Amino acid sequence: MGLLSLGTPLHWNEAKHYADHVRSHGIDQFLSVYRKLRDRQKQCLLWGDEVEFIVVKMDQENKESKLSLRVFDILADLQRPEQEYNSGTSTEPPETLWRPEYGRFMLEAIPGQPYGATFRDLMKVEASMKRRRQLAQEAMLPGEIPVSLVNYPRLGCPHETSPDHEPTGQAVQSLFVPDEITNPHARFPTLTANIRRRRGAKVEINMPIFHDKNTPRPFIDPTIPWDRDVFPHDKEAKNGAAKPDHIYMDAMAFGMGCCCLQITFQACNIDEARHLYDHLAPVAPIMLALTAACPIFRGYLADVDCRWNVIAASVDDRTPEERGLKPLENDRFVINKSRYDSIDTYICDDAMYKSKYNDLDLVYDKDIYKKLRENDVDDLLARHISHLFIRDPLVIFKELLDQDDEKSMDHFENIQSTNWQTVRFKPPPPDSDIGWRVEFRSMEVQLTDFENAAFSVFIVLVTRVILSFGLNLYIPITKVDENMATAHKRGAAVNDKFYFRKNVFPNLDGTTTESDDEYELMTMNEIINGQENGFPGFIPLIHNYLDSTNIDIETRCKLSSYLSLISKRASGELMTGATYLRHLVMNHPDYKHDSVVSPSITYDLINTVDKIARGELKAPELLGDFSA
Ligand code: GLU
Ligand code: MG
Repeated sequence: MGLLSLGTPLHWNEAKHYADHVRSHGIDQFLSVYRKLRDRQKQCLLWGDEVEFIVVKMDQENKESKLSLRVFDILADLQRPEQEYNSGTSTEPPETLWRPEYGRFMLEAIPGQPYGATFRDLMKVEASMKRRRQLAQEAMLPGEIPVSLVNYPRLGCPHETSPDHEPTGQAVQSLFVPDEITNPHARFPTLTANIRRRRGAKVEINMPIFHDKNTPRPFIDPTIPWDRDVFPHDKEAKNGAAKPDHIYMDAMAFGMGCCCLQITFQACNIDEARHLYDHLAPVAPIMLALTAACPIFRGYLADVDCRWNVIAASVDDRTPEERGLKPLENDRFVINKSRYDSIDTYICDDAMYKSKYNDLDLVYDKDIYKKLRENDVDDLLARHISHLFIRDPLVIFKELLDQDDEKSMDHFENIQSTNWQTVRFKPPPPDSDIGWRVEFRSMEVQLTDFENAAFSVFIVLVTRVILSFGLNLYIPITKVDENMATAHKRGAAVNDKFYFRKNVFPNLDGTTTESDDEYELMTMNEIINGQENGFPGFIPLIHNYLDSTNIDIETRCKLSSYLSLISKRASGELMTGATYLRHLVMNHPDYKHDSVVSPSITYDLINTVDKIARGELKAPELLGDFSA
């Protein structure tokens, strides 16, 4: 989740006066790192994954599940090895780094050491993920379980947390979730409240409901407390924020309470990081659709399969002027997207790049752009940074306002880490040995360690073929946006088509002719498994790459099993997580074909996915012959 600083967080009314201060020092901090480290070279690839879990308390006797808010007790145990190592009381490096997340029911787990460039390292991933699940389990009380589900299906329904709380918190002011659901670290309640204060209203999340045969039309949600009168914002639902035929949600927790699978790569140098950033951007929506695992929100089946737009809306702090609903008077820009969204601009200025790919009318801060250009930052990178810096810092700690810009990146990170985009370009932290990195952020967490390892390894191998074969994956960025919208559709991985480049092999010098730059709509199967006379497909390209390397049989077999899972997901032979979960609900004896995911269905669903993750239950529609 990024930066956690300590101190007194400022209310938006005060924080907004320091926005320019944070931005201007943030840029100085970036420039300092850029000046010192733009030539930093790293010998080889390092990479890591991040898996997020939710913690659920299962009452097997009463057949009830609740979202456990005990994560900070659990984390105290889990973080001990890291703390002991850092304080010198132990010489044993921690196996896993545990981090809190937005929800007080979430755990984020990162391997203790990054993985290296060898194929043997790819073999460590699944074991590490299994170990993380085991460590999490061991730190919990009987009945509690770590679940790698994107979200808790009944988050925001009454009495679904343990302990139980009424939804009457000042920070969130939600009709559905209490303040206690949020990580209590000062940053998070402030982030939540300042998003609302800046926006001037609660966040508005409406996901289309899945209309089953007994779902009323129009669907007007009877569970919304339409007439509640606790906070001034309570009337928003009635005044149009809650849309008919949609599942309405009004709090950051519905989005940032979702779990994902992220991969971070350390590139050899800044140019390689920028190159990977650009070529992974068109891959992000494809992987969102292929990993889709989130068909239920607030106790209802949705007509979408993934989380992305829910998170985007859940942190959308844009004012009505910025959203283009009122003429600009007090604000500086009309902004086309939330802070959490697909990227708006490519950043790699090499022979493959053409300006026609950046076909979005980029909004950026002209003064910041000018300053970056004057300090020797090239046009594309300056546009990227000055685009990120159109945002205001949302959480400012009073004690941290004055920083040494040669030593700290806090102000830069304040803006950077609250631009949650599909890919992130990460400068090295000052005073560290780390290189230039890229984070791949679109994937949804999968139910099992096997799947999470498969998708992580797949993305690593995709980066290897991008670099080894010099693939050109550019398509206009507006088409990447269209793919993001498509990725949300129910069953998109098998039913829909995505814009993709027809010819990915440029000339030896990286150049292409106009006709080489064509793109077309392709199925997921074509993109992953290949077209007969066109794009060869990622899996065949990866096999080709593996054929050209020296790799032992055992490793090759394991990698092939990962690739086979992904190939079968893309061909439709195996279900995505979303389709699988949807089927579990729709085939449950208590399901009334009215889109409602009841407590008993939720309990059984969580029990089932937990058993699958532990390897106690086979799920051939999801995993084929592979075991979890
Ligand atoms: N949980 C968020 C997601 O599902 C990401 C939070 C983070 O950046 O770690 O995308
Ligand atoms: Mg995280």
